[in-house]
Amino acid sequence: MIRLKDSISKLKGIGDKKAEILGKLHIETVDDLLCFFPRKYEDRQRLYSIMEAPFDRDVLISGRVTGKKGASSGYYKKVPMRVTIEDNTGSVELIFFNARYLTNYFLVGQEYTLFGKITLKNGKRQMAHPEFHKKGDKDDMRGILPVYPLTEGISQAQMRSWQLAAADAVEEMEEWLPSHVVEKNHLCSPAYAIQNIHFPKEQRRVLESRYRMVFEELLVLQTGLFYIKRGRVSDGKGIAIPKSISIKAFLDRLPFQLTKGQEKVWKEIESDLAASKPMNRLVQGDVGSGKTAVAELAMYKVVKGGYQAVMMAPTELLAKQHFASLKRDLEPLGLTVELLCSSTKAKERTEILDKLERGYIHVLVGTHAVIQPDVRFHRLGLVVTDEQHRFGVNQRALLTEKGQNPNVLVMTATPIPRTLAVILFGDLDISIIDTMPTGRKQIRTFLRYDNGRNKVYDFLATQVQEGRQCYVVAPLIEESEKLECRSAEELYQEISQKYRNLRVGLVHGGMKQEEKDSIMEAFAAGQVDILVSTVVIEVGIDVANATVMVIENCERFGLAQLHQLRGRVGRSGHQSYCILICGKETEVAAKRNEIMVNSSDGFTIAEEDLKLRGPGEIFGTRQHGIPELHVSDLVKHVDVLDQVKVVAKEILEADPYLQAEENRHLREKVKKMFGENIQLKL
Ligand code: ADP
Ligand code: MG
Repeated sequence: MIRLKDSISKLKGIGDKKAEILGKLHIETVDDLLCFFPRKYEDRQRLYSIMEAPFDRDVLISGRVTGKKGASSGYYKKVPMRVTIEDNTGSVELIFFNARYLTNYFLVGQEYTLFGKITLKNGKRQMAHPEFHKKGDKDDMRGILPVYPLTEGISQAQMRSWQLAAADAVEEMEEWLPSHVVEKNHLCSPAYAIQNIHFPKEQRRVLESRYRMVFEELLVLQTGLFYIKRGRVSDGKGIAIPKSISIKAFLDRLPFQLTKGQEKVWKEIESDLAASKPMNRLVQGDVGSGKTAVAELAMYKVVKGGYQAVMMAPTELLAKQHFASLKRDLEPLGLTVELLCSSTKAKERTEILDKLERGYIHVLVGTHAVIQPDVRFHRLGLVVTDEQHRFGVNQRALLTEKGQNPNVLVMTATPIPRTLAVILFGDLDISIIDTMPTGRKQIRTFLRYDNGRNKVYDFLATQVQEGRQCYVVAPLIEESEKLECRSAEELYQEISQKYRNLRVGLVHGGMKQEEKDSIMEAFAAGQVDILVSTVVIEVGIDVANATVMVIENCERFGLAQLHQLRGRVGRSGHQSYCILICGKETEVAAKRNEIMVNSSDGFTIAEEDLKLRGPGEIFGTRQHGIPELHVSDLVKHVDVLDQVKVVAKEILEADPYLQAEENRHLREKVKKMFGENIQLKL
């Protein structure tokens, strides 16, 4: 009798060598083996007749051998072995390369079952390298077959036979979820699930079983995340800013009305601020959706409530830009705003720090310079960070420590699909600005190739004549790749020589900071018509008069990056354009281009990006301490995640520390999943 706890070496067919390979797949016990799931299934339930079998996908057929031509290999070419198979509807030719060993396997007159793709070549049906069995063999390949994610040294057939050998132990698997969860969500039992995942009889049962496994994995994940979040929330009393404090003066000065999306997010922030627990909110909004105005509102309110606010930006340029708009919007209302960067002169810095500590500065804007140890606040009530993904969680924490549980507002323009945001920022509440200011025209996006470049640049010239400005972005490149790619330097030379009457500027990563800043400032002031750059302009720069974004070698940029770049234009009532110039069209690049041309919604694009690249690659989920998932996929299983959230909430409400007997297993699994990543006081 095989038991779950047994070592896999007890199974027939697993010796030291195979055990070692399985060890690499983290399979040591029978339990591990049974929890090692197929990647997909091959449906071989239906046996097709030759004529009716569809082309180009794996199908099961059977027939009699009516002829064969043996393989031979001469000096010049290898001749494959060909076997003709017939049933009473038609014939198909099997082709095997390098397969002399098969010469005597196929016998004329014998019947065989075959599994493979049929293709049509010159009107003839062919099947190359099918799987084959003599008809009537015990294993004639009928049914639904699991396909496992294996490594070298193990075949699918071996894995299937080991699973079969382990099957007896399935009975030992017990239900561990609370019975009310099982009943309410119509979950099948773990034993049933494992049984049908490895030895499926029907597709329906596979789906039912997978659902159970996905459900339980996501439930463990979500319970852990809620637990962590709650721990943070109950951490201590924060600073409450009464709702009654009026923001009317600010709104009256604003040259526009808040959009619906801004309004909604502001309401969420306002009630966070009014609550006695500290706010911890992430505001997501597509580029240009108007996050800054919302952040300004929050700062204004907090200052009027008697506290200070600080805003941290990832680059000096961005900090300066924010400083300019904060000065413009808040100073006339009686607030003092200061800028602190690493380039701030020592004397000025000392002065700022002094005023800050005495409470004379209401709003401080800056780069990392604001988290230096000697930066002290009088009464810090709000921390705003812009473009959060550029800061680590630790940096955010450093800022927070400068006050007594200050409110935290994080702004990001990187649209993170909701599902992932929940996981990545599990410790933050999430608000989304889902509308754009009215009066904006949709940016028109075009795809061009090398041969269309001249026309593109002529177009830039006409835009400049109309008074607009343009960006040309080239990818950052290594010396060795120069041949393939148009470097910013080269483009700059080309454009400035061709259009001598245009004012062309160049910014690239190799330049000194002051140099870069001065060119960017000139562009912002309208003194440069065309700005050629590497991706240094990616984040945040706001020049409303710019209407064209040309992206050279667009195949070298990721979707999210392309979208960010495109967001630099379309910031006014003028029609704006994004022109992608593609140098080398790979399959992924083609897909990306298509998405860019057809979609302007950052969230859709982010979802697509996620599908193309996978969450790990985009956000480095490992670094964020997010547990590895085995059966579920945060993109594919969003709907299950939604269901599970409700369940996890109910469980934690009824039993906050998972101490009830019925939650014992759940507690163990949460602990196991989160491991040392997160301190759980469970
Ligand atoms: P982002 O979300 O990318 O940070 P910004 O806050 O920089 O967006 O806003 C982009 C531009 O839109 C700014 O010039 C800003 O003044 C303007 N803006 C913001 N809110 C509105 C609104 N409700 N109506 C019209 N224009 C707005
Ligand atoms: Mg912004």
